[in-house]
Amino acid sequence: MEKKVRVRFAPSPTGGLHLGGVRTVLYNYLFARKHGGDFVLRVEDTDQNRFVEGAEQYIMDCLHWCGLEPDESPEKGGPHAPYRQSERKYLYYEYAQKLVDAGYAYYAFDTTHELEKMRTDFRKDEHSVPQYDQNTRMHMRNSLSLSQEEVVHLLEKNTPYVIRIKMPEHRTITLTDMIRGEVSFDSSLVDDKVLLKADGMPTYHLAVVVDDYLMKITHAFRGEEWLPSAPVHILLWEYLGWKQDMPEWAHLPLILKPDGNGKLSKRDGERLGFPVFAMNWTDPKTGDTSKGFREMGFLPQAFVNMLAMLGWNPGSEQEIFSLQELVEHFSIERVHKGGAKFDFEKSKWFNNQYIQRTDNETLAKLALPYIEAGLRKSGVEANVDMDLLQRVAGLVKERCTLLPDFWEQGHFFFATPAAIDVAAIKEKWNGQKQQFFAEWADSLESYTEWNEKALETGFTEFAAQKGLKKGELMLPLRIMLVGGKFGPGVFAIAELIGKEETMKRIKSLHL
Ligand code: GLU
Repeated sequence: MEKKVRVRFAPSPTGGLHLGGVRTVLYNYLFARKHGGDFVLRVEDTDQNRFVEGAEQYIMDCLHWCGLEPDESPEKGGPHAPYRQSERKYLYYEYAQKLVDAGYAYYAFDTTHELEKMRTDFRKDEHSVPQYDQNTRMHMRNSLSLSQEEVVHLLEKNTPYVIRIKMPEHRTITLTDMIRGEVSFDSSLVDDKVLLKADGMPTYHLAVVVDDYLMKITHAFRGEEWLPSAPVHILLWEYLGWKQDMPEWAHLPLILKPDGNGKLSKRDGERLGFPVFAMNWTDPKTGDTSKGFREMGFLPQAFVNMLAMLGWNPGSEQEIFSLQELVEHFSIERVHKGGAKFDFEKSKWFNNQYIQRTDNETLAKLALPYIEAGLRKSGVEANVDMDLLQRVAGLVKERCTLLPDFWEQGHFFFATPAAIDVAAIKEKWNGQKQQFFAEWADSLESYTEWNEKALETGFTEFAAQKGLKKGELMLPLRIMLVGGKFGPGVFAIAELIGKEETMKRIKSLHL
């Protein structure tokens, strides 16, 4: 029988969720949904030094905002609970001990000072950064170099120790990666990683293997930065006798900075003025806030669609995919090997596409906080009429890239424009035009039908009567109603702001 697909996202709660992390979530999620499998969120919090307060909740909130809900998680529970490694601490020791008993791992009693000394003593041209490995381990204090009596004695005295994996010499360890194909590593180049720390906590390397096994994970997708750790993990699967249950691996390409090479970092975002986190993240220690896509005014669906395309292609020209369509089209084999350059302009393009495709009722709800904030800032006390906001949303959505643009593009529907760009019309202005507008404004009083069409017809006829070119009157009318050279159709604007306000704005223009 085919095993049920089970994938996991295994973040360490050390800070904000970088968009590369969200993409890892997304690819896991899509794969699970496509194969009718389970998507597990496991929190890898065994490194107490890197633990950051609030980061776990933040990660869960990000997944929630993106609509990528896990099936099992610390919050939801599930058949393999607990899903937080710190709460599973008690179960790793047994496996580390098993490895020691079988000769695949050993106790190491070295102090911090001794480790530092090794790094200086063994620095040679060919080992510029000496590590704890086959070259050095027999010079250190561990259960391979010491006699059995000494080891027993040290253990009896409760001497602090760690358990390290004993990397074999000259073994080629091969991994078949779903994206990269065969990748080989020389075991001699890998150090004897710590598996269990002196405080009894496992390190990531031991915990990830034990938990992937116990949680019956069938496919492990993670960032490319974990590729160098893969030989250690593969050996652990083998040494623990679980090789036949080892998940299939896929190491996802990095997301690269838009300019130059290298991984997109928080600093690149600050430098180039775009977010790299899904949502605002405030570092609890420094109090510094990094901007998020959510707070910048991205729709989660657009953000997710953009991320899907960052390093994956559907094999067609299609770019806009709903989550359901992504589930149908996604295949891990189509994920690129090479890194994907992040393009903020393209992200904004996606957002605009999604805004255009969103119904006006939903948009009105999304835009409301921005309109309210804008009004507050302009010192206008007003209750926003949701019917009006829906119609405004429909008129301006094409022009909105980010949600705050609904205020920029639509403020004049809710408040008289504070500034009027008189300079835009001054040059061609004259007394005749002045009179035309004064008279047309008065004539509006008698309009029984107040809509775009009636207004346009009325305006056109009135201009003809006065022997004026309509084309020359449109910009002044726009400037009067909007304040600047932008916005949707000017008669549609007049229709929405109403008779009284239209008359008032026309009459209040003095040049
Ligand atoms: N805890 C690791 C991280 O923070 C997970 C790596 C993996 O998925 O194996 O990224």
